Amino acid sequence: MSIGAQAVARCQAWRHPPFSDAPDGLSRRYLTPAHRAAITEMTGWMEAAGMAVRLDAAGTLIGRYEGTGSKTLLIGSHIDTVGDAGAYDGTLGVMLGLGCVEALAAKGRRLPFAIEILAFGDEEGSRFHSSMLGSRALAGTLASVPEIFDAAGVSLAEAMRGFGLDPTQLPLAARARDDVLLFLEPHIEQGPVLEAENLAVGIVTGIAAQTRLKVGLQGMANHAGTTPMHLRRDALAAAAEAMLALEEIALEAGIVGTVGAIEAFPGVSNVVPGRVSFSVDLRAPTEAVRDAGGEQFGKVLQEICGRRGIVAEVQTVQSLDACYCDAAAQKLLAQAVATCGVAPFYLPSGAGHDAMSVAALCPVAMLFIRCLKGISHNPAEHVEVQDVETAAQVMLAFFELLAGQ
Ligand SMILES: [Zn+2]
Repeated sequence: MSIGAQAVARCQAWRHPPFSDAPDGLSRRYLTPAHRAAITEMTGWMEAAGMAVRLDAAGTLIGRYEGTGSKTLLIGSHIDTVGDAGAYDGTLGVMLGLGCVEALAAKGRRLPFAIEILAFGDEEGSRFHSSMLGSRALAGTLASVPEIFDAAGVSLAEAMRGFGLDPTQLPLAARARDDVLLFLEPHIEQGPVLEAENLAVGIVTGIAAQTRLKVGLQGMANHAGTTPMHLRRDALAAAAEAMLALEEIALEAGIVGTVGAIEAFPGVSNVVPGRVSFSVDLRAPTEAVRDAGGEQFGKVLQEICGRRGIVAEVQTVQSLDACYCDAAAQKLLAQAVATCGVAPFYLPSGAGHDAMSVAALCPVAMLFIRCLKGISHNPAEHVEVQDVETAAQVMLAFFELLAGQ
């Protein structure tokens, strides 16, 4: 079986119990029996490929394939999922790394650097609403266990203890950086760009800078029957105009802007809405472009509200800087892609990934794999075996190029 076919088959097998906590539909959350089952099976595969295997203090499974030199190439992604997930988000990257090491081991090929395959237990934050715990612990940016609870009221520390992990040991998960060459994360694109370009794989330039805003609009609630249109201060109509303006700003700037949540008060059919709050999610390749988009939206919002007698308040809920993939590694990946007969194509990632957290530790690189219609976080997530095989061949070529340096 090819590396690609094997990786796809393994992801598919992990869609069901015991690798899913749900009887129907894939759900593999952090520190659950399904997570344990995945770790156990992965450990067996890693050991069979001659890797030394350990579980770090954050529950990240690490398999090490020794090289002839002292440096280490890290490869990995996450094996946790959202609820009713697809088979490939995260998991495929780990299976690809494993498959490449198996191919090296089968040939007895040792590279001038060691390879460590990392299977992070938490990226999605689907159990504790705090994402990337595994990669943050590895990067040394998560000093202690946060006091957070799952839906059943179990604390993260309790869940860790129940899994055989010692929460006080979390700082020990921080990876020493002196011997690390690079972190490579293969991942499905989760977007439709590669499909539109008719390409199996793409080289990621970086992960988008993101801002989340909370917008509050205060108008005047009033009787829907007796208040004439020109005397209204309708907060929801103002929000609607602002949303369309955001769409236009994003289209013009070539960025993405989304209003995903909105609440209107009092929220009944016969009252002019007096108060509205809505979310704004803005993402762009760089902080400067994102901030320019945010400023423009702020100005337009004030203009709309001024005209409509509405008071607007904008609050920044979260602001994440862009993460840039290593330029030299991008070039090397492009060479590897070209040797596999694919035109090198660069694209930014709109979604957050473990690589973002690992960037605090070492240079990072990402290889995207085309997925059907860009569908993700959905059981309909689909990849073609041929594309996954291309990704595997790109990775093997990348190792050799790296070895030649
Ligand atoms: Zn993912």
